[in-house]
Amino acid sequence: NRRFVLAERPAGMPTASTFRLETVDIPKPAEGQMLLRTLWLSLDPYMRIRLNEGYSYRPGVDLGGAMVGGTISRVEESRHPGYKAGDLVIAASGWQDYALSDGSDIDIKLDPSMAHPSWGLGVLGMPGFTAWHGLVNIGEPKAGETFVIAAATGAVGQIAGQLAKARGLRAVGIAGGADKCRYAVQELGFDACVDHRSADLPGDLKKACPDGIDIYFENVGGAVFDAVLPLFNLHSRMAICGLIAHYNGGGESGDRMPLLLTSLLKRLKTQGFIIYDHYAEHYEAFFREMSGLLAQGRIKVREDVIDTLEGAPQGLVSLLEGRNFGKVVVKVA
Ligand code: NDP
Repeated sequence: NRRFVLAERPAGMPTASTFRLETVDIPKPAEGQMLLRTLWLSLDPYMRIRLNEGYSYRPGVDLGGAMVGGTISRVEESRHPGYKAGDLVIAASGWQDYALSDGSDIDIKLDPSMAHPSWGLGVLGMPGFTAWHGLVNIGEPKAGETFVIAAATGAVGQIAGQLAKARGLRAVGIAGGADKCRYAVQELGFDACVDHRSADLPGDLKKACPDGIDIYFENVGGAVFDAVLPLFNLHSRMAICGLIAHYNGGGESGDRMPLLLTSLLKRLKTQGFIIYDHYAEHYEAFFREMSGLLAQGRIKVREDVIDTLEGAPQGLVSLLEGRNFGKVVVKVA
C-alpha cells in the first residue's frame, strides 16, 4: 500500500521534500467499513491550500498525515450494508493505493461498466459540479449575455464555457498561451479566448468583450482580475470560485477599493462559494443533466493523465504552474 504523506509545509511552490512516499500494510475493514482500492486520483488546486497549517475552509493536512484527494475507487471488501465488493464509487481516499471508508466520504456510486471512470473526478465530479453551480445558480445566465472565465481549458473552465455556450451566452476564455486559447475557441466553442501572458491583457480582454462582462467566473485573481474589473456591466454577477494566482502566497494586487467602488456603481452581485456546501441539494440534479449532455455528445472532455501515483507531487506543481492542459488525473491502478 503506497501512500504519500505531507513531510514538510512548503513556503511557496511545493518542492521535492514536501511529500514523502511510504509503504504501509493494507488496512482491514471493521464492521460498518469497507476497503477501497484507488483506481484514479484527482489533482486539484485546493490541495495547495490544504498544505498550509490551520483552517481555511477545511483544516490543513497534518504533518506526517496521508495527503487528501478525490478518487475513483473500487470496493475490494465490504462490511458496510450499503456497498458490496466490485462497486465503483467517487470517494476521497487521498494519495494512496488503499483506504478504509465508512461511506461518509462517498459522493455517488458509478456504473462499474462506465467507459471513462476518471470523468467522475472531472466533468461528472467536483470540478464539473463547480462549473455548473457557479454558472447556473450564481451567474443566473441569460442568453446573449457575455460570460468570462479564466483557466478556461482547465477542469472547471472547460465545462463552464461549454455550458455557457449551450445556454446561448457569449463565452470568453482567458488562458495561458496560444495552444490553450486555440483549443478553447476551436474545440470547446468559446467565442474568444485571450492569453493572460500577452503584453496587453486589459486591452485584449476589452476587445474580446465589446459589450462588457455580465458574468465573471473568478478562478484566478491577481492580474487577470485587474483586467476584468473595468469591464463589469450594470447588474453583472461574479461567482468567486478560486484565486489560484494567490495560493502559493504573493501575487496580491493590494488595493481593494476599485472592487468595492465597482460593486457599488455597477450594482455588481458577488458571491463566493465552496462547492462542498451544495452536494446535498444539487449534486444529483447536476449529475443527471451532465450525464445526459455527455451521452448526447454535447460536451467535450480533455484530461491530462499522469501514469503513476509516484508522479502526483510533480503533477501538483505542474497544475499550480499552469503546465497542465485539461483536468489532471493520476492513474493509480
Ligand atoms: P485547472 O485545471 O484550471 O488548473 C489550474 C489552472 O490555473 C492552470 O492550468 C492555469 O491555467 C491557471 N493558473 C495557474 N496560475 C495562474 C496565474 N497566476 N494566473 C492565471 N492563471 C493561472 O484547475 P481547476 O479547474 O481544477 O480549478 C480552477 C479554479 O477553481 C481554482 O482556483 C480552484 O481552486 C477553483 N475551484 C474552487 C472550488 C470551490 O468549491 N470554490 C471547487 C473547484 C475548483 P492557464 O495556463 O490557462 O492560465
